[in-house]
Amino acid sequence: MLLFPKFVFKVKTEKKIIALTFDDGPHPEFTEELLDIFKEKNVKATFFVTGTNIESQKHLILRMINEGHELGNHSYSHKNLIFRSPGKIRDEILKTDKLLRELGVKGAIHFRPPFGRILLSACFVMQSLKKKVIMWNIPTKDFKEPYPEVIISRIYNRLKPGSIIVLHDSGLSRNGKNIDRKATIAAVKEIVQELPKRGYQFKTISELINN
Ligand SMILES: [Zn+2]
Repeated sequence: MLLFPKFVFKVKTEKKIIALTFDDGPHPEFTEELLDIFKEKNVKATFFVTGTNIESQKHLILRMINEGHELGNHSYSHKNLIFRSPGKIRDEILKTDKLLRELGVKGAIHFRPPFGRILLSACFVMQSLKKKVIMWNIPTKDFKEPYPEVIISRIYNRLKPGSIIVLHDSGLSRNGKNIDRKATIAAVKEIVQELPKRGYQFKTISELINN
């Protein structure tokens, strides 16, 4: 048995397809706004959600499923997994998977570790749960509240076929202070207009992997 689970940073393809991914939500306001934009533009995205937010925002999870978005597992409590035992990590993942299944999520549920950090001991857990670990090749650093133009240029600078873009839709910054997602939402509005003009199509993570 391989010790390392499959880590995906981007997908090898010639096709102009990319994935928009959002961590830490869903949030009652910001996620709703993003879903409205995606509905209007017929864009599919992938949301790596936490168990606690699934419990408080069930209606948004149902809306995501209904509108063809993909749901991923971002742990239950969003604690840094580096400090957790393999048993606890397993619990965090299984509890969140269960919540997603109860709401009707079908197919593979991929995992993204909180803060993008994971240690060898956690790799063993991922492997035993047969989870793909989805990372990214385009970090927008939108948790640092940059201007929308900064987020947009970070995306354009690194864009290539098979790219995975990471953004955030929660109402909290990394150090736990309140944040509004105006910049992220404005950046998303811009790229869903512009990238199709450049020939790019937005896919969910599973669609990108299985292209
Ligand atoms: Zn996160």
